[in-house]
Amino acid sequence: MTDPAAPLDVTRLLTTITDNLVGMIYRCRIDAIWTMEYVSEGCHKLTGYRPDELVFNNRVSYDQMTLPEDREHVSRTIRAALAANEAFDVEYRIRRADGKVRWVLERGVGLYDQYGHLAWIEGFIQDISERMAANEALHEAVRRYRSIFEHATEGIFQTTPEGRYLNANPALAHIYGHASPDELVAHLHDIQRQLYVLPERRAEFVRLMQAHGVVRNFESQVYRRDGHIIWISENARAVRDADGSVQFFEGTVVDITERKQHEAVLEHQASHDSLTGLPNRSLLRDRIEQAIVKAQRDNHLVAVVFVDLDHFKLINDSLGHHVGDRLLLEVADRLIACVRSHDSVARQGGDEFVLVLTELHEENEILAIVSRLLEVISQPWMDEGQEYGLSCSVGISCYPQDGGDPDALLRCADAAMYKAKESGRSTYHFYTPELNQAISERLELENSLRHALERDEFRVYYQPRIDVASGRIIGAEALIRWDCPGKGIIPPDSFISIAEETGLIIPIGQWILEEACRQNSAWQRAGLPPINVSVNLSPIQFRHAGLVQAVASALAQAGLDPAFLELELTESFVMHDAERINVAMKSLKTLGVDIAVDDFGTGYSSLSYLKRFPVDRLKVDKSFVRDIDSDPDDAAIVRAIITLGHALGLKVVAEGVETLAHLEFLRQHGCDELQGYYFSRPIPALDMEALLCAGGTSQTDMNHPDDHEP
Ligand code: C2E
Ligand code: CA
Ligand code: CA
Repeated sequence: MTDPAAPLDVTRLLTTITDNLVGMIYRCRIDAIWTMEYVSEGCHKLTGYRPDELVFNNRVSYDQMTLPEDREHVSRTIRAALAANEAFDVEYRIRRADGKVRWVLERGVGLYDQYGHLAWIEGFIQDISERMAANEALHEAVRRYRSIFEHATEGIFQTTPEGRYLNANPALAHIYGHASPDELVAHLHDIQRQLYVLPERRAEFVRLMQAHGVVRNFESQVYRRDGHIIWISENARAVRDADGSVQFFEGTVVDITERKQHEAVLEHQASHDSLTGLPNRSLLRDRIEQAIVKAQRDNHLVAVVFVDLDHFKLINDSLGHHVGDRLLLEVADRLIACVRSHDSVARQGGDEFVLVLTELHEENEILAIVSRLLEVISQPWMDEGQEYGLSCSVGISCYPQDGGDPDALLRCADAAMYKAKESGRSTYHFYTPELNQAISERLELENSLRHALERDEFRVYYQPRIDVASGRIIGAEALIRWDCPGKGIIPPDSFISIAEETGLIIPIGQWILEEACRQNSAWQRAGLPPINVSVNLSPIQFRHAGLVQAVASALAQAGLDPAFLELELTESFVMHDAERINVAMKSLKTLGVDIAVDDFGTGYSSLSYLKRFPVDRLKVDKSFVRDIDSDPDDAAIVRAIITLGHALGLKVVAEGVETLAHLEFLRQHGCDELQGYYFSRPIPALDMEALLCAGGTSQTDMNHPDDHEP
């Protein structure tokens, strides 16, 4: 223990400090290898060498210890300081006795000898490896963050709440169309007004930041430098200072323009019809809803106008979908031309279009538009050199009287449209409450029709065809009836079109073919005079690929000679797509059956086609026969058809022969065969059998037959 009262022994104090310092005090010569004359005890800890090993380079020189690559730098730094008569600080690496490399900091100052020459350096060297490592890590981190900032694909920004940029990375400059971050920062000094398409969006951004300190996926439209508008999404947070007030915002920006465009395309696809580009069913509902809201407010009417093309299925099925598609496009164009800018045209599906008429004050305005529509649609349509007549049926419902929501209005307009179709097509009908009844009846009918075949509810009636020359029954037309429980016998006009629309005509048509062949074969086997039975073919069946096969199999099943089967096709259908139908007819003909053109005179036949078709009979439409004895025009037409048929080598049959006067006229003008109520109504197979049994009924002694139909 030292006596605190004793005088201070400074030398001893300094020795204690020197020996215990972490680091090495030294004095060296200013020579090439920094020969150490003195080093403190700290030498051992710092370098791994004992002081006596270093002093006078006994084992190692300090220069040797210094890493070769640092020596030059050390030397230059020290000599420069000495020349300037200053103290120096220099950092470099040494290799310890144990081979480990350490960073050291050396601080020293030059010392003069008695002659005033620089002779020594005295100083202190300490190990700074740990600090250097920490520094290095820090630098590395900064470098890494810098690199992220520079190379990120997201734009990164720091902005002030007032709307200036503090910082922007190259990606942000790129997104916003600036050459560099500096240019961006310099150019954009009022973010709200210069950048955002809707300045309110920036205001909202700032509001969210102040309130919650963050925004997530905040989407806005912004202007690029060149004025183009793009969509961006921002994620950002507010950086606050110690007292909690917002200093700046920092965050990221991604350009989502492509995604937005893609979404817009998808949305358009989901709400528009791909063929015509018109609003589809779902958008139509929206439009009607909006129209209702607006009409409520302004006290206006809304009209929902259901437009259905007449005979579209026929065109589509017989001419193919390409023609059908072009027709729909044409109709879409024509409809658009009929409405005003605030109205809508939508495609409901198939050949059904719906107009939504708005801002109406009275029904007359609806009528004006609908009349124009009927007129515009009925203009002939030219497609690839071919002219087509078009027409449509229109049903109209109105808000508020017919319904208060889109579904109700569409239902009513649809019902009214069916009524228009029933009343002869190419016309319009307003909805009335009684139509509901009609619609539900139709739906019911459609539903029971689906089960009619399996429940065996169809019957075939036969109407005899008489040979004028012999007065004998030489054929019969098979006409379908539906014996619907609770409804009685339903005539074909009430359900054939439904069967065609639903596709049920294929199995039904097949059934009647088989039944007619079976019955005819049975009559022949029973020894009755053989007759030819004709079966009506729907255009839908004709388009169906399996027709020839179906006819062949009906004949084979029944074991009927094909010569006793005739197929009837209506003239309007035959002329629709004459070339193709000609080919199909020829393949039917190869089976050996007869072919008749039904309802002849109504369908504008082309003579050249008629000549080439493999046709056996023309059936004069009953509308011409009806007034044959009173209307000179009808009489002339029938005479002309007979002459024409004969010129082409065809048999001519007259349908709808109801009176003796009809019969006389037709016989006189050389008509070959007759069919009509005058001889017999269509009758069940058993009654037909009785007629055949009675033998060749002659027209002269034929009494008016019993009526088997109501
Ligand atoms: P359609 O082929 O023109 O058949 C002739 C129609 O005229 C039959 O009506 C027949 O009963 C009727 N009729 C016959 N004689 C007279 C007469 O003297 N005066 C009058 N006013 N009418 C007469 P129906 O049986 O009601 O058939 C109507 C239509 O339904 C047929 O017209 C045909 O287009 C279609 N149809 C009937 N059966 C079938 C079938 O099995 N398949 C297909 N696809 N259509 C059929
Ligand atoms: Ca017929
Ligand atoms: Ca007919």
